[in-house]
Amino acid sequence: YYPETGSISYTTLSRFPPVKLLPPADRKRILVTGGAGFVGSHLVDRLMLLGHEVTVLDNFFTGSKTTVSHWVGHPNFEMVRHDVVEPFMIECDQIYHLACPASPPHYQFNAVKTMKTSFMGTLNMLGLAKRTKARFLISSTSEIYGDPEVHPQPEDYWGNVNPIGPRACYDEGKRVAETLTYGFHRQDGVDVRVVRIFNTYGPRMNPADGRVVSNFIVQALKGEDMTVYGDGTQTRSFQYIHDLIDGMIALMNSGETRPVNVGNPDEFTIGEFAELVRDIVEKVQDEYGIKRTRRVEIVYRPIPTDDPKQRRPDTTRAKQTLDWEPRWNVRMGLEEMVRYYKARMDEGSL
Ligand code: UDP
Repeated sequence: YYPETGSISYTTLSRFPPVKLLPPADRKRILVTGGAGFVGSHLVDRLMLLGHEVTVLDNFFTGSKTTVSHWVGHPNFEMVRHDVVEPFMIECDQIYHLACPASPPHYQFNAVKTMKTSFMGTLNMLGLAKRTKARFLISSTSEIYGDPEVHPQPEDYWGNVNPIGPRACYDEGKRVAETLTYGFHRQDGVDVRVVRIFNTYGPRMNPADGRVVSNFIVQALKGEDMTVYGDGTQTRSFQYIHDLIDGMIALMNSGETRPVNVGNPDEFTIGEFAELVRDIVEKVQDEYGIKRTRRVEIVYRPIPTDDPKQRRPDTTRAKQTLDWEPRWNVRMGLEEMVRYYKARMDEGSL
């Protein structure tokens, strides 16, 4: 039973992962900006599997068509090349607004464009939400807390951001995007959700985006030295992508309009994390019988300007209002990620 597919045969649909068959009243029209990115593509997968109609908007600056290509041709799926800096019109029930470069090298590559995307992109998508009365969720970030002086970071902490540093285009961009979101909420009654995403990793993360998880795994797999920036005492807390997607969908469908941190509170110094990644890569290599000529070394490089010294989410609100908790511990997630990059290496695309 597949009501609106009409002439599309079962054979055509069988080349797609099996999606849930929702009655039309439960099926939502969902717009995902940045839907071809790392987080976006995982969100799209989940929304498609849940049986919704999904439209992806992406300019493919940092996203890639291949991340969602397995859905192309599915009657519930549509992909549009579009830059959110320009207005866009579509009838929809929910908007997940994710579009923005998010890794430090990418967002700093063209700082003005990052700010334009954060401000004008969010303005355009909020305008769309206002016109269509769609519920609007924005992906904000732990970066809005800057180099935090409160630890761990609860949502009511205002942050410590350098407004003119190299990270400001992203940090301040997201801060103003949140301000815009609550402006539309108070002034125009737009139904808003704000998720503050902490460091997240998982399959499909671009191996060249300069993030610590991808750098360390790729370096260790290739037998290259692992580059710790600074003395490695700065901390981060890493969550696996599936936990984030659980949290985002739970937030969108909850009544919580305040910002909500979604991240794994398990905190590591970057030095410890390098050792953990090295151990896991070695474990996976041993399983595959891969011989190492030497143990990769951990080497130290200069710390980037304004690199936050510590970061860990206070997730009390997510637990209380969404009943959300991370289910993947770092070891489990990293093993999956190492296997994913190893498979890409084997096929020659890494
Ligand atoms: N980092 C590192 N080696 C790398 C890449 C990053 O030591 O090859 C450090 C970086 O300086 C930061 C932390 O790892 O302290 C996390 O960096 P990432 O770019 O992944 O995310 P951020 O939290 O800074 O946005």
